[in-house]
Amino acid sequence: MSENRTEVSTLGEFALIDHLTKNIEIQNASTIVGVGDDAAVIDHFGKQTVVTNDLLIEGVHFDLMYTPLKHLGYKSVVVNVSDIYAMNATPAQIVLSIAFSNRFSVEALDEFYEGVYAACETYGVDLIGGDTCSSQKGFIISCTAIGEVSPDKYVKRNGAQKGNLVCVSGDLGAAYLGLTLLEREKKIFLENPNIQPDLEGEKYIVGRILKPEARKDIVEFLAQNNIQPTAMMDISDGLSSEVLHICKQSNVGCVLYEEKLPIGEETKMAAFKFNLDPTACALSGGEDYELLFTVKQDDYEAISKNTDISIIGYITDEEAGVNIFTKGGNKFPVTAQGWNAFK
Ligand code: ADP
Ligand code: MG
Repeated sequence: MSENRTEVSTLGEFALIDHLTKNIEIQNASTIVGVGDDAAVIDHFGKQTVVTNDLLIEGVHFDLMYTPLKHLGYKSVVVNVSDIYAMNATPAQIVLSIAFSNRFSVEALDEFYEGVYAACETYGVDLIGGDTCSSQKGFIISCTAIGEVSPDKYVKRNGAQKGNLVCVSGDLGAAYLGLTLLEREKKIFLENPNIQPDLEGEKYIVGRILKPEARKDIVEFLAQNNIQPTAMMDISDGLSSEVLHICKQSNVGCVLYEEKLPIGEETKMAAFKFNLDPTACALSGGEDYELLFTVKQDDYEAISKNTDISIIGYITDEEAGVNIFTKGGNKFPVTAQGWNAFK
């Protein structure tokens, strides 16, 4: 943060909004009216509109002791556009509202918006409005993302069918271990402020929690290869929980294979250090923002072309339940806290 501190009160609400939004350059033809009027206007030119909102509350969803404001701004956008991609749609606009106490200076808000605009550029979305408000305590962020999709190409959670392949992008469990590490370092720091945090060699897992990315590339790959998933969602609460959602809403069961779960080397090493089971972290960790989806078996060859997609199991009859085969060949029911089965 720069050494200058400008009180928000020296600007006032309208000048602050102008300050925070003055450099916006519209990127989408669908954005007809952006910031500056009573409401924005969007034209999706015959496409269907997809809308989602997420609320991020200080002390509940993030801890400013170890979350740089720029990363928080970036993540506020990412978690929302991730939900749009999870519908097989393309995000085009966001509406972002913030509430903050006088603990926040104009410079601090600038840092937050630097991250917001960086994410807008990465994902090609326009910031078209919001609200600015004071808060007694804590920083509150509400972000709405709006996306577009060709008619009836959106993908819900309820379309998985028996025999479909269960696929997941990227790797799992790292964000949870990054969070575990940051929480440990925070505790050590609070007990002894002279000890500097030891994050050496942990860049990957810390990056996964502080600066996640949404899987724009996977949705583009699916479109380029004419693959229409039968069900899809993003992994925010952990693989187990999300698999259970898809199976329940689709009235199917599924079989997963522990050995097929994508887990990075850095994640395995960190789990080992914390005496945690990497599989449990992958199943129950959450905040990975990878995509979980099911496809028809005919799409196997096309899916296999993408080395960043793992096929981790297949869909069964509902009666068979939702199970995972361990590396040792044992079968366990998948529960929302996947690690219980392995203890
Ligand atoms: P109103 O009184 O109608 O709510 P505001 O003064 O709050 O109007 O907002 C004026 C314009 O600035 C609107 O276009 C609104 O969407 C936009 N705006 C307000 N706060 C923000 C913000 N934090 N980020 C982006 N746009 C904002
Ligand atoms: Mg307002």
